[in-house]
Amino acid sequence: MTGFLGFAELCGKVESVSGSLEKIDLASAFLSNLDEAELAVASNFIMGVVFAPSSDLVLGVGPSILYEALARACGCGSEKISEMLRATGDPGLVAAMAAEKKRPIGFAAFAETDALSISDVYSRFLAVAHASGKKSQDAKVKNLQFLFSQALPLEARYIARLAIEDMRIGIGEGGARDAIAKAFSRPAEDVERSYNLTNDMGLVAVSAKRGTLSELGVMLNHPIKMMLAQLSEGIPAAMKELGTAAVEWKYDGARVQIHKDGQKVRIFTRRLENVTASLPEIVSAAKTKIRATNAILDGEAVAIGKDGRPVAFQQILKRFRRKYDVEKLAAQIPLRLFLFDIIYLEDRSVVDKPLTERRKLLQETAADPTLLADQVLTGDLNEVEEIYKKALEAGHEGLMLKNPSSVYAPGKRGKNWLKIKPVMETLDLVVIGAKWGEGRRASFLGSYRLGCMETETGRILDVGWVATGLTDEALSDLTEMFKDLIVVQKDMEVELKPAVIFEVAYEEIQKSPNYSSGYALRFPRLVTVRDDKSLDEADTIERVTSLYKVQRGRSTSA
Ligand code: AMP
Repeated sequence: MTGFLGFAELCGKVESVSGSLEKIDLASAFLSNLDEAELAVASNFIMGVVFAPSSDLVLGVGPSILYEALARACGCGSEKISEMLRATGDPGLVAAMAAEKKRPIGFAAFAETDALSISDVYSRFLAVAHASGKKSQDAKVKNLQFLFSQALPLEARYIARLAIEDMRIGIGEGGARDAIAKAFSRPAEDVERSYNLTNDMGLVAVSAKRGTLSELGVMLNHPIKMMLAQLSEGIPAAMKELGTAAVEWKYDGARVQIHKDGQKVRIFTRRLENVTASLPEIVSAAKTKIRATNAILDGEAVAIGKDGRPVAFQQILKRFRRKYDVEKLAAQIPLRLFLFDIIYLEDRSVVDKPLTERRKLLQETAADPTLLADQVLTGDLNEVEEIYKKALEAGHEGLMLKNPSSVYAPGKRGKNWLKIKPVMETLDLVVIGAKWGEGRRASFLGSYRLGCMETETGRILDVGWVATGLTDEALSDLTEMFKDLIVVQKDMEVELKPAVIFEVAYEEIQKSPNYSSGYALRFPRLVTVRDDKSLDEADTIERVTSLYKVQRGRSTSA
Protein backbone atom coordinates (compact mmCIF):
# COMPACT_ATOMS: atom_id res chain seq x y z
CA MET A 1 0.00 0.00 0.00
CA THR A 2 1.35 3.42 -0.90
CA GLY A 3 1.46 5.89 1.92
CA PHE A 4 -0.25 9.22 1.57
CA LEU A 5 3.22 10.63 2.20
CA GLY A 6 4.28 9.36 -1.25
CA PHE A 7 1.35 11.22 -2.79
CA ALA A 8 2.19 14.38 -0.82
CA GLU A 9 5.82 14.16 -1.94
CA LEU A 10 4.68 13.86 -5.54
CA CYS A 11 2.49 16.95 -5.13
CA GLY A 12 5.42 18.84 -3.61
CA LYS A 13 7.64 17.97 -6.58
CA VAL A 14 4.93 18.76 -9.15
CA GLU A 15 4.31 22.09 -7.46
CA SER A 16 8.00 22.99 -7.50
CA VAL A 17 8.61 22.42 -11.24
CA SER A 18 7.20 24.92 -13.67
CA GLY A 19 7.08 23.05 -17.00
CA SER A 20 3.86 21.17 -17.75
CA LEU A 21 5.78 18.29 -19.36
CA GLU A 22 7.84 17.83 -16.22
CA LYS A 23 4.69 17.86 -14.11
CA ILE A 24 3.12 15.21 -16.34
CA ASP A 25 6.26 13.03 -16.23
CA LEU A 26 6.31 13.11 -12.44
CA ALA A 27 2.61 12.35 -12.13
CA SER A 28 2.67 9.53 -14.67
CA ALA A 29 5.64 7.82 -12.97
CA PHE A 30 3.77 7.96 -9.66
CA LEU A 31 0.40 6.76 -10.99
CA SER A 32 1.95 3.87 -12.90
CA ASN A 33 3.11 2.29 -9.61
CA LEU A 34 -0.20 2.35 -7.74
CA ASP A 35 -2.60 -0.53 -7.25
CA GLU A 36 -6.09 -0.09 -8.70
CA ALA A 37 -7.80 1.15 -5.55
CA GLU A 38 -5.14 3.80 -4.92
CA LEU A 39 -5.03 4.76 -8.59
CA ALA A 40 -8.79 5.37 -8.60
CA VAL A 41 -8.43 7.85 -5.75
CA ALA A 42 -5.09 9.48 -6.62
CA SER A 43 -6.10 10.25 -10.24
CA ASN A 44 -8.91 12.44 -8.94
CA PHE A 45 -6.87 13.81 -6.03
CA ILE A 46 -4.12 15.23 -8.24
CA MET A 47 -6.71 17.51 -9.87
CA GLY A 48 -8.07 18.54 -6.48
CA VAL A 49 -11.18 16.39 -6.95
CA VAL A 50 -12.18 14.23 -4.00
CA PHE A 51 -15.38 12.69 -5.40
CA ALA A 52 -16.34 12.29 -9.06
CA PRO A 53 -19.70 13.93 -9.94
CA SER A 54 -21.39 10.56 -10.64
CA SER A 55 -20.87 9.61 -7.00
CA ASP A 56 -23.36 12.26 -5.81
CA LEU A 57 -21.06 12.88 -2.83
CA VAL A 58 -20.29 16.44 -1.81
CA LEU A 59 -17.51 17.22 0.65
CA GLY A 60 -19.08 20.45 1.89
CA VAL A 61 -15.96 21.92 3.52
CA GLY A 62 -15.59 25.69 3.45
CA PRO A 63 -12.69 27.67 4.85
CA SER A 64 -14.37 28.06 8.26
CA ILE A 65 -14.63 24.29 8.80
CA LEU A 66 -11.06 23.83 7.60
CA TYR A 67 -9.62 26.48 9.91
CA GLU A 68 -11.55 25.19 12.90
CA ALA A 69 -10.19 21.68 12.24
CA LEU A 70 -6.66 23.06 11.97
CA ALA A 71 -6.98 25.12 15.11
CA ARG A 72 -8.21 22.11 17.07
CA ALA A 73 -5.58 19.77 15.60
CA CYS A 74 -2.66 21.98 16.50
CA GLY A 75 -4.14 23.10 19.78
CA CYS A 76 -3.88 26.76 18.94
CA GLY A 77 -6.66 29.31 18.71
CA SER A 78 -8.36 30.16 15.44
CA GLU A 79 -6.82 33.64 15.79
CA LYS A 80 -3.38 32.11 15.49
CA ILE A 81 -4.54 30.25 12.37
CA SER A 82 -5.89 33.51 10.86
CA GLU A 83 -2.61 35.24 11.63
CA MET A 84 -0.65 32.48 9.88
CA LEU A 85 -3.02 32.72 6.92
CA ARG A 86 -2.42 36.43 6.58
CA ALA A 87 1.31 35.78 6.62
CA THR A 88 1.32 32.96 4.05
CA GLY A 89 -1.80 33.36 1.95
CA ASP A 90 -2.02 29.59 1.61
CA PRO A 91 -4.17 27.22 3.73
CA GLY A 92 -1.88 24.34 2.71
CA LEU A 93 1.16 26.03 4.22
CA VAL A 94 -0.77 26.93 7.34
CA ALA A 95 -1.82 23.30 7.72
CA ALA A 96 1.83 22.23 7.37
CA MET A 97 2.92 24.79 9.96
CA ALA A 98 0.17 23.69 12.32
CA ALA A 99 1.20 20.06 11.91
CA GLU A 100 4.81 21.01 12.66
CA LYS A 101 3.76 22.79 15.84
CA LYS A 102 1.74 19.91 17.19
CA ARG A 103 4.86 17.67 17.31
CA PRO A 104 7.38 19.62 19.35
CA ILE A 105 9.43 16.57 20.27
CA GLY A 106 10.57 16.01 16.75
CA PHE A 107 10.71 13.21 14.28
CA ALA A 108 10.80 10.31 16.74
CA ALA A 109 7.19 10.99 17.59
CA PHE A 110 6.07 10.17 14.05
CA ALA A 111 6.97 6.52 14.42
CA GLU A 112 4.34 6.17 17.12
CA THR A 113 1.39 6.79 14.86
CA ASP A 114 0.54 4.63 11.87
CA ALA A 115 1.39 6.14 8.53
CA LEU A 116 -1.63 7.39 6.57
CA SER A 117 -2.41 5.56 3.35
CA ILE A 118 -4.13 7.14 0.34
CA SER A 119 -7.19 5.01 1.17
CA ASP A 120 -7.21 6.22 4.80
CA VAL A 121 -7.43 9.81 3.62
CA TYR A 122 -10.18 8.94 1.15
CA SER A 123 -12.19 7.10 3.84
CA ARG A 124 -12.01 10.11 6.14
CA PHE A 125 -13.20 12.37 3.35
CA LEU A 126 -16.09 9.94 2.85
CA ALA A 127 -16.97 10.39 6.52
CA VAL A 128 -16.79 14.17 6.05
CA ALA A 129 -19.18 13.97 3.08
CA HIS A 130 -21.60 11.67 4.88
CA ALA A 131 -21.88 13.97 7.90
CA SER A 132 -25.40 15.32 7.79
CA GLY A 133 -28.06 16.78 10.01
CA LYS A 134 -27.81 19.45 12.69
CA LYS A 135 -24.38 18.49 13.94
CA SER A 136 -22.87 17.98 10.50
CA GLN A 137 -20.50 20.96 10.78
CA ASP A 138 -19.02 19.58 13.96
CA ALA A 139 -18.74 16.06 12.54
CA LYS A 140 -16.93 17.42 9.49
CA VAL A 141 -14.52 19.37 11.70
CA LYS A 142 -13.84 16.29 13.85
CA ASN A 143 -13.06 14.07 10.89
CA LEU A 144 -10.71 16.63 9.39
CA GLN A 145 -9.12 17.25 12.77
CA PHE A 146 -8.45 13.52 13.04
CA LEU A 147 -6.71 13.54 9.67
CA PHE A 148 -4.55 16.52 10.61
CA SER A 149 -3.62 14.97 13.90
CA GLN A 150 -2.30 11.90 12.06
CA ALA A 151 -0.55 13.82 9.30
CA LEU A 152 3.05 14.81 8.80
CA PRO A 153 3.50 18.47 7.82
CA LEU A 154 3.84 17.72 4.10
CA GLU A 155 0.75 15.51 4.20
CA ALA A 156 -1.21 18.15 6.10
CA ARG A 157 -0.39 20.66 3.39
CA TYR A 158 -2.15 18.61 0.70
CA ILE A 159 -4.94 17.32 2.93
CA ALA A 160 -5.88 20.96 3.56
CA ARG A 161 -5.83 21.77 -0.13
CA LEU A 162 -7.87 18.65 -0.95
CA ALA A 163 -10.39 19.61 1.71
CA ILE A 164 -11.11 22.83 -0.16
CA GLU A 165 -10.56 21.09 -3.52
CA ASP A 166 -7.92 23.55 -4.67
CA MET A 167 -4.57 21.75 -5.12
CA ARG A 168 -2.56 24.59 -6.68
CA ILE A 169 0.02 22.20 -8.17
CA GLY A 170 -0.72 23.01 -11.79
CA ILE A 171 -2.46 19.81 -12.85
CA GLY A 172 -5.93 20.16 -14.31
CA GLU A 173 -8.00 17.77 -16.42
CA GLY A 174 -5.55 18.10 -19.33
CA GLY A 175 -2.53 17.32 -17.15
CA ALA A 176 -4.20 14.33 -15.50
CA ARG A 177 -5.30 13.05 -18.90
CA ASP A 178 -1.74 13.22 -20.27
CA ALA A 179 -0.23 11.66 -17.14
CA ILE A 180 -2.61 8.69 -17.33
CA ALA A 181 -2.03 8.31 -21.08
CA LYS A 182 1.72 8.25 -20.49
CA ALA A 183 1.61 6.00 -17.41
CA PHE A 184 -0.26 3.24 -19.24
CA SER A 185 0.85 3.97 -22.84
CA ARG A 186 -2.63 4.85 -24.13
CA PRO A 187 -3.54 7.58 -26.66
CA ALA A 188 -4.43 10.85 -24.88
CA GLU A 189 -7.57 11.16 -27.09
CA ASP A 190 -8.87 7.83 -25.77
CA VAL A 191 -8.32 8.95 -22.19
CA GLU A 192 -10.03 12.27 -22.88
CA ARG A 193 -13.02 10.64 -24.57
CA SER A 194 -13.51 8.23 -21.68
CA TYR A 195 -13.30 11.09 -19.22
CA ASN A 196 -15.87 13.18 -21.08
CA LEU A 197 -18.23 10.20 -21.03
CA THR A 198 -17.79 9.24 -17.38
CA ASN A 199 -16.44 12.30 -15.54
CA ASP A 200 -14.45 10.08 -13.27
CA MET A 201 -10.68 10.28 -13.74
CA GLY A 202 -10.25 7.41 -11.26
CA LEU A 203 -12.41 5.06 -13.30
CA VAL A 204 -10.65 6.18 -16.47
CA ALA A 205 -7.19 5.59 -14.97
CA VAL A 206 -8.08 2.08 -13.78
CA SER A 207 -9.50 1.26 -17.24
CA ALA A 208 -6.35 2.64 -18.87
CA LYS A 209 -4.26 0.42 -16.60
CA ARG A 210 -6.36 -2.64 -17.48
CA GLY A 211 -6.38 -1.81 -21.20
CA THR A 212 -10.18 -1.56 -21.22
CA LEU A 213 -10.67 2.13 -22.06
CA SER A 214 -12.68 1.27 -25.17
CA GLU A 215 -15.23 -0.51 -22.98
CA LEU A 216 -16.05 2.73 -21.17
CA GLY A 217 -19.04 4.42 -22.71
CA VAL A 218 -22.14 6.34 -21.86
CA MET A 219 -23.56 5.02 -18.59
CA LEU A 220 -27.06 5.51 -17.31
CA ASN A 221 -27.05 7.56 -14.05
CA HIS A 222 -23.51 8.85 -14.73
CA PRO A 223 -23.66 12.47 -15.95
CA ILE A 224 -21.94 12.99 -19.29
CA LYS A 225 -20.16 16.19 -20.26
CA MET A 226 -22.55 18.16 -22.40
CA MET A 227 -21.89 18.98 -26.04
CA LEU A 228 -21.28 22.71 -26.41
CA ALA A 229 -21.60 25.31 -29.13
CA GLN A 230 -19.17 27.68 -30.77
CA LEU A 231 -20.08 31.29 -31.38
CA SER A 232 -20.49 31.99 -35.07
CA GLU A 233 -19.72 35.31 -36.72
CA GLY A 234 -23.24 35.40 -38.12
CA ILE A 235 -25.88 33.49 -40.07
CA PRO A 236 -24.23 33.79 -43.53
CA ALA A 237 -20.86 32.56 -42.22
CA ALA A 238 -22.50 29.71 -40.30
CA MET A 239 -24.62 28.62 -43.28
CA LYS A 240 -21.57 28.75 -45.53
CA GLU A 241 -19.84 26.45 -43.08
CA LEU A 242 -22.75 24.02 -42.72
CA GLY A 243 -24.55 24.09 -46.10
CA THR A 244 -27.73 22.59 -44.76
CA ALA A 245 -28.35 23.17 -41.08
CA ALA A 246 -30.66 21.82 -38.42
CA VAL A 247 -31.98 25.13 -37.15
CA GLU A 248 -33.32 25.47 -33.59
CA TRP A 249 -34.07 28.38 -31.31
CA LYS A 250 -31.45 29.01 -28.69
CA TYR A 251 -33.84 28.90 -25.75
CA ASP A 252 -33.14 31.21 -22.84
CA GLY A 253 -33.12 28.77 -19.98
CA ALA A 254 -30.84 26.31 -18.23
CA ARG A 255 -29.43 23.07 -19.56
CA VAL A 256 -30.69 19.77 -18.17
CA GLN A 257 -29.51 16.22 -18.78
CA ILE A 258 -32.23 13.74 -17.87
CA HIS A 259 -31.47 10.13 -17.02
CA LYS A 260 -34.57 7.92 -17.05
CA ASP A 261 -33.99 4.46 -15.62
CA GLY A 262 -37.36 2.73 -15.29
CA GLN A 263 -39.37 4.84 -12.87
CA LYS A 264 -36.19 6.38 -11.48
CA VAL A 265 -35.30 9.78 -12.93
CA ARG A 266 -32.18 11.84 -12.29
CA ILE A 267 -31.56 15.32 -13.63
CA PHE A 268 -28.13 16.91 -13.92
CA THR A 269 -27.14 20.50 -14.64
CA ARG A 270 -24.47 21.68 -17.00
CA ARG A 271 -22.11 21.54 -14.00
CA LEU A 272 -23.19 17.91 -13.59
CA GLU A 273 -24.88 18.58 -10.26
CA ASN A 274 -27.86 16.44 -9.39
CA VAL A 275 -30.94 18.70 -9.18
CA THR A 276 -33.64 16.03 -9.43
CA ALA A 277 -35.33 16.96 -6.15
CA SER A 278 -35.81 20.58 -7.25
CA LEU A 279 -37.55 19.86 -10.56
CA PRO A 280 -40.66 17.70 -9.89
CA GLU A 281 -42.50 18.67 -13.09
CA ILE A 282 -39.55 17.59 -15.21
CA VAL A 283 -39.26 14.33 -13.29
CA SER A 284 -42.95 13.74 -13.89
CA ALA A 285 -42.68 14.56 -17.62
CA ALA A 286 -39.78 12.11 -17.93
CA LYS A 287 -41.78 9.40 -16.16
CA THR A 288 -45.04 9.83 -18.02
CA LYS A 289 -44.21 11.31 -21.39
CA ILE A 290 -41.03 9.52 -22.40
CA ARG A 291 -41.77 6.25 -24.14
CA ALA A 292 -38.64 4.37 -23.13
CA THR A 293 -37.62 2.07 -20.33
CA ASN A 294 -34.35 3.89 -20.15
CA ALA A 295 -32.93 6.94 -21.88
CA ILE A 296 -30.64 9.94 -21.46
CA LEU A 297 -32.07 13.14 -22.89
CA ASP A 298 -30.57 16.60 -23.38
CA GLY A 299 -32.54 19.81 -23.34
CA GLU A 300 -33.25 23.24 -21.92
CA ALA A 301 -35.53 24.01 -18.98
CA VAL A 302 -37.24 27.34 -19.57
CA ALA A 303 -39.46 29.40 -17.31
CA ILE A 304 -42.14 31.11 -19.37
CA GLY A 305 -43.82 34.16 -17.82
CA LYS A 306 -47.51 35.11 -18.11
CA ASP A 307 -46.74 37.16 -21.23
CA GLY A 308 -45.36 34.03 -22.89
CA ARG A 309 -41.78 35.26 -22.75
CA PRO A 310 -38.93 33.58 -20.89
CA VAL A 311 -38.30 34.94 -17.40
CA ALA A 312 -34.86 35.97 -16.12
CA PHE A 313 -32.23 33.29 -15.80
CA GLN A 314 -31.90 34.04 -12.06
CA GLN A 315 -35.48 32.84 -11.56
CA ILE A 316 -34.65 29.50 -13.12
CA LEU A 317 -31.61 29.19 -10.89
CA LYS A 318 -33.84 29.80 -7.89
CA ARG A 319 -35.77 26.72 -8.96
CA PHE A 320 -32.60 24.68 -9.44
CA ARG A 321 -31.25 25.59 -6.01
CA ARG A 322 -34.45 25.22 -3.99
CA LYS A 323 -34.32 22.38 -1.47
CA TYR A 324 -37.47 23.04 0.59
CA ASP A 325 -41.00 24.13 -0.41
CA VAL A 326 -40.13 22.94 -3.89
CA GLU A 327 -43.75 22.46 -4.99
CA LYS A 328 -44.67 25.99 -3.88
CA LEU A 329 -41.89 27.56 -5.92
CA ALA A 330 -42.70 25.25 -8.84
CA ALA A 331 -46.21 26.71 -8.86
CA GLN A 332 -44.77 30.25 -8.95
CA ILE A 333 -42.08 29.58 -11.54
CA PRO A 334 -43.21 26.60 -13.62
CA LEU A 335 -40.62 25.18 -15.98
CA ARG A 336 -41.11 23.99 -19.53
CA LEU A 337 -38.84 21.46 -21.09
CA PHE A 338 -37.48 21.71 -24.62
CA LEU A 339 -35.62 18.53 -25.54
CA PHE A 340 -33.14 18.83 -28.36
CA ASP A 341 -31.05 15.67 -28.18
CA ILE A 342 -30.90 12.06 -27.11
CA ILE A 343 -27.73 10.41 -25.85
CA TYR A 344 -28.83 6.92 -24.79
CA LEU A 345 -31.86 4.79 -25.53
CA GLU A 346 -32.93 1.33 -24.37
CA ASP A 347 -29.55 0.26 -23.00
CA ARG A 348 -27.55 1.64 -25.92
CA SER A 349 -25.52 4.75 -26.47
CA VAL A 350 -26.67 6.72 -29.52
CA VAL A 351 -23.94 9.38 -29.39
CA ASP A 352 -22.31 8.04 -32.56
CA LYS A 353 -25.46 8.30 -34.67
CA PRO A 354 -25.86 11.42 -36.83
CA LEU A 355 -28.03 14.24 -35.47
CA THR A 356 -30.83 13.56 -37.99
CA GLU A 357 -31.13 9.98 -36.73
CA ARG A 358 -30.99 11.06 -33.11
CA ARG A 359 -33.72 13.59 -33.83
CA LYS A 360 -35.93 10.80 -35.25
CA LEU A 361 -35.33 8.69 -32.15
CA LEU A 362 -36.11 11.67 -29.95
CA GLN A 363 -39.39 12.29 -31.79
CA GLU A 364 -40.38 8.65 -31.43
CA THR A 365 -39.47 8.67 -27.75
CA ALA A 366 -41.32 11.84 -26.73
CA ALA A 367 -45.01 10.98 -26.34
CA ASP A 368 -45.85 14.68 -26.24
CA PRO A 369 -44.46 16.74 -29.16
CA THR A 370 -44.59 19.97 -27.13
CA LEU A 371 -41.64 18.60 -25.15
CA LEU A 372 -39.43 18.97 -28.21
CA ALA A 373 -37.44 21.95 -29.40
CA ASP A 374 -38.68 22.89 -32.89
CA GLN A 375 -36.19 22.02 -35.56
CA VAL A 376 -36.11 22.99 -39.25
CA LEU A 377 -33.72 21.40 -41.71
CA THR A 378 -32.81 23.99 -44.32
CA GLY A 379 -30.09 25.49 -46.47
CA ASP A 380 -32.10 28.62 -47.22
CA LEU A 381 -30.48 31.73 -45.73
CA ASN A 382 -33.71 33.75 -45.76
CA GLU A 383 -35.59 31.05 -43.94
CA VAL A 384 -32.89 30.97 -41.25
CA GLU A 385 -33.03 34.77 -40.91
CA GLU A 386 -36.82 34.51 -40.45
CA ILE A 387 -36.49 31.90 -37.70
CA TYR A 388 -33.83 34.05 -36.01
CA LYS A 389 -36.16 37.06 -36.01
CA LYS A 390 -38.94 34.96 -34.47
CA ALA A 391 -36.64 33.58 -31.77
CA LEU A 392 -35.57 37.08 -30.72
CA GLU A 393 -39.14 38.40 -30.87
CA ALA A 394 -40.17 35.60 -28.53
CA GLY A 395 -37.50 36.77 -26.08
CA HIS A 396 -35.02 33.93 -26.61
CA GLU A 397 -31.28 34.24 -27.13
CA GLY A 398 -30.89 33.52 -30.82
CA LEU A 399 -30.30 30.38 -32.84
CA MET A 400 -28.42 27.13 -32.74
CA LEU A 401 -27.34 25.95 -36.18
CA LYS A 402 -26.32 22.31 -36.06
CA ASN A 403 -24.58 20.03 -38.53
CA PRO A 404 -27.24 17.42 -39.41
CA SER A 405 -24.69 14.65 -39.86
CA SER A 406 -22.72 15.33 -36.67
CA VAL A 407 -22.32 12.91 -33.78
CA TYR A 408 -22.95 13.95 -30.18
CA ALA A 409 -19.51 14.97 -28.91
CA PRO A 410 -19.50 15.08 -25.09
CA GLY A 411 -17.63 18.03 -23.62
CA LYS A 412 -16.70 19.41 -27.04
CA ARG A 413 -17.20 22.98 -28.18
CA GLY A 414 -16.91 22.54 -31.93
CA LYS A 415 -18.15 23.69 -35.32
CA ASN A 416 -21.00 21.17 -35.41
CA TRP A 417 -23.09 23.36 -33.13
CA LEU A 418 -22.91 27.05 -33.97
CA LYS A 419 -24.67 29.65 -31.87
CA ILE A 420 -25.96 32.91 -33.23
CA LYS A 421 -26.52 35.72 -30.73
CA PRO A 422 -27.05 39.40 -31.38
CA VAL A 423 -24.72 40.77 -28.72
CA MET A 424 -20.97 40.69 -28.43
CA GLU A 425 -19.82 37.59 -26.59
CA THR A 426 -19.41 38.01 -22.89
CA LEU A 427 -16.66 36.30 -20.91
CA ASP A 428 -17.25 33.80 -18.13
CA LEU A 429 -14.52 34.58 -15.60
CA VAL A 430 -13.57 33.11 -12.26
CA VAL A 431 -13.84 35.37 -9.22
CA ILE A 432 -10.51 35.07 -7.40
CA GLY A 433 -10.53 38.05 -5.08
CA ALA A 434 -12.52 41.02 -3.86
CA LYS A 435 -12.24 44.37 -2.09
CA TRP A 436 -14.31 45.64 0.82
CA GLY A 437 -16.17 48.83 0.01
CA GLU A 438 -15.71 52.14 1.76
CA GLY A 439 -17.91 54.29 4.02
CA ARG A 440 -21.53 53.17 3.85
CA ARG A 441 -20.49 50.10 1.91
CA ALA A 442 -17.69 49.00 4.21
CA SER A 443 -19.48 45.76 5.05
CA PHE A 444 -19.92 44.77 1.40
CA LEU A 445 -17.50 43.23 -1.02
CA GLY A 446 -17.86 45.76 -3.82
CA SER A 447 -15.37 44.97 -6.54
CA TYR A 448 -14.14 41.63 -7.69
CA ARG A 449 -10.88 40.37 -9.15
CA LEU A 450 -11.40 38.14 -12.16
CA GLY A 451 -9.35 35.44 -13.80
CA CYS A 452 -9.33 33.19 -16.85
CA MET A 453 -8.05 29.63 -17.01
CA GLU A 454 -4.81 28.36 -18.48
CA THR A 455 -5.95 25.03 -19.93
CA GLU A 456 -2.65 23.16 -19.70
CA THR A 457 -1.94 23.85 -16.06
CA GLY A 458 -5.33 24.70 -14.60
CA ARG A 459 -3.77 27.96 -13.30
CA ILE A 460 -5.94 31.05 -13.12
CA LEU A 461 -4.55 34.21 -14.70
CA ASP A 462 -5.99 37.53 -13.65
CA VAL A 463 -7.60 39.94 -16.10
CA GLY A 464 -8.49 42.79 -13.76
CA TRP A 465 -11.43 43.92 -11.68
CA VAL A 466 -15.14 44.44 -12.09
CA ALA A 467 -17.14 46.79 -9.90
CA THR A 468 -20.68 45.53 -9.90
CA GLY A 469 -22.73 48.73 -9.91
CA LEU A 470 -25.36 46.84 -7.90
CA THR A 471 -27.88 47.96 -5.32
CA ASP A 472 -26.99 47.56 -1.62
CA GLU A 473 -29.39 44.65 -1.34
CA ALA A 474 -27.84 42.77 -4.24
CA LEU A 475 -24.34 43.55 -2.95
CA SER A 476 -25.27 42.21 0.43
CA ASP A 477 -26.46 38.93 -1.18
CA LEU A 478 -23.21 38.65 -3.13
CA THR A 479 -21.13 39.37 -0.02
CA GLU A 480 -23.02 36.66 1.87
CA MET A 481 -22.28 34.21 -0.94
CA PHE A 482 -18.56 34.99 -0.97
CA LYS A 483 -18.01 35.10 2.80
CA ASP A 484 -17.50 31.35 3.03
CA LEU A 485 -15.00 31.45 0.20
CA ILE A 486 -12.57 33.89 1.78
CA VAL A 487 -9.16 32.27 1.94
CA VAL A 488 -7.00 35.16 3.11
CA GLN A 489 -7.60 38.76 4.00
CA LYS A 490 -4.96 41.44 3.55
CA ASP A 491 -6.06 44.96 4.49
CA MET A 492 -9.05 45.80 2.33
CA GLU A 493 -8.54 42.92 -0.07
CA VAL A 494 -9.52 39.30 0.21
CA GLU A 495 -8.40 36.30 -1.73
CA LEU A 496 -11.30 34.01 -2.62
CA LYS A 497 -11.43 30.31 -3.24
CA PRO A 498 -12.07 30.11 -6.99
CA ALA A 499 -15.58 28.72 -7.23
CA VAL A 500 -17.87 31.37 -8.64
CA ILE A 501 -18.14 32.43 -12.28
CA PHE A 502 -19.17 35.92 -13.32
CA GLU A 503 -20.46 36.52 -16.80
CA VAL A 504 -18.86 39.82 -17.72
CA ALA A 505 -19.58 42.19 -20.60
CA TYR A 506 -17.01 44.78 -21.65
CA GLU A 507 -16.28 47.24 -24.40
CA GLU A 508 -12.87 46.10 -25.42
CA ILE A 509 -10.07 43.74 -24.47
CA GLN A 510 -6.80 45.60 -24.04
CA LYS A 511 -3.23 44.38 -23.64
CA SER A 512 -2.01 45.02 -20.12
CA PRO A 513 1.27 44.37 -18.32
CA ASN A 514 -0.52 44.75 -14.98
CA TYR A 515 -2.21 41.37 -15.00
CA SER A 516 -0.77 37.89 -15.32
CA SER A 517 -3.01 37.11 -18.33
CA GLY A 518 -1.43 40.04 -20.20
CA TYR A 519 -4.92 41.47 -20.84
CA ALA A 520 -7.36 43.80 -19.15
CA LEU A 521 -11.03 44.48 -19.85
CA ARG A 522 -12.18 47.98 -20.69
CA PHE A 523 -15.43 49.00 -18.96
CA PRO A 524 -16.22 45.57 -17.55
CA ARG A 525 -19.78 45.07 -16.38
CA LEU A 526 -21.28 42.19 -14.42
CA VAL A 527 -24.06 40.59 -16.48
CA THR A 528 -24.92 37.78 -14.12
CA VAL A 529 -23.54 35.24 -11.68
CA ARG A 530 -23.25 32.00 -13.65
CA ASP A 531 -24.22 29.60 -10.86
CA ASP A 532 -24.85 26.99 -13.52
CA LYS A 533 -21.24 26.91 -14.66
CA SER A 534 -18.34 25.13 -13.03
CA LEU A 535 -14.71 26.21 -12.95
CA ASP A 536 -13.77 24.06 -15.92
CA GLU A 537 -16.27 25.99 -17.99
CA ALA A 538 -14.68 29.34 -17.27
CA ASP A 539 -13.17 31.05 -20.26
CA THR A 540 -9.56 30.39 -21.10
CA ILE A 541 -6.64 32.66 -21.89
CA GLU A 542 -6.80 31.21 -25.41
CA ARG A 543 -10.36 32.47 -25.79
CA VAL A 544 -9.45 35.91 -24.43
CA THR A 545 -6.58 36.05 -26.92
CA SER A 546 -8.76 35.03 -29.84
CA LEU A 547 -11.48 37.54 -28.92
CA TYR A 548 -8.78 40.18 -28.66
CA LYS A 549 -7.60 39.34 -32.17
CA VAL A 550 -11.10 39.26 -33.70
CA GLN A 551 -11.86 42.62 -32.15
CA ARG A 552 -8.61 44.08 -33.50
CA GLY A 553 -9.54 42.77 -36.95
CA ARG A 554 -12.90 44.51 -36.69
CA SER A 555 -11.72 47.86 -35.53
CA THR A 556 -8.99 48.22 -38.16
CA SER A 557 -11.38 47.30 -40.99
CA ALA A 558 -14.02 49.74 -39.73
P1 AMP B 1 -23.71 29.15 -24.21
O1 AMP B 1 -24.14 28.93 -22.79
O2 AMP B 1 -23.85 30.56 -24.67
O3 AMP B 1 -22.36 28.53 -24.52
O4 AMP B 1 -24.74 28.36 -25.16
C1 AMP B 1 -24.95 26.99 -25.08
C2 AMP B 1 -26.20 26.71 -24.27
O5 AMP B 1 -27.38 27.09 -24.98
C3 AMP B 1 -26.43 25.25 -24.01
O6 AMP B 1 -25.65 24.78 -22.95
C4 AMP B 1 -27.91 25.19 -23.70
O7 AMP B 1 -28.11 25.40 -22.32
C5 AMP B 1 -28.49 26.39 -24.43
N1 AMP B 1 -29.43 26.04 -25.52
C6 AMP B 1 -30.61 26.67 -25.72
N2 AMP B 1 -31.24 26.16 -26.79
C7 AMP B 1 -30.46 25.17 -27.29
C8 AMP B 1 -30.58 24.28 -28.39
N3 AMP B 1 -31.62 24.32 -29.22
N4 AMP B 1 -29.55 23.41 -28.61
C9 AMP B 1 -28.47 23.38 -27.78
N5 AMP B 1 -28.32 24.20 -26.72
C10 AMP B 1 -29.30 25.10 -26.47
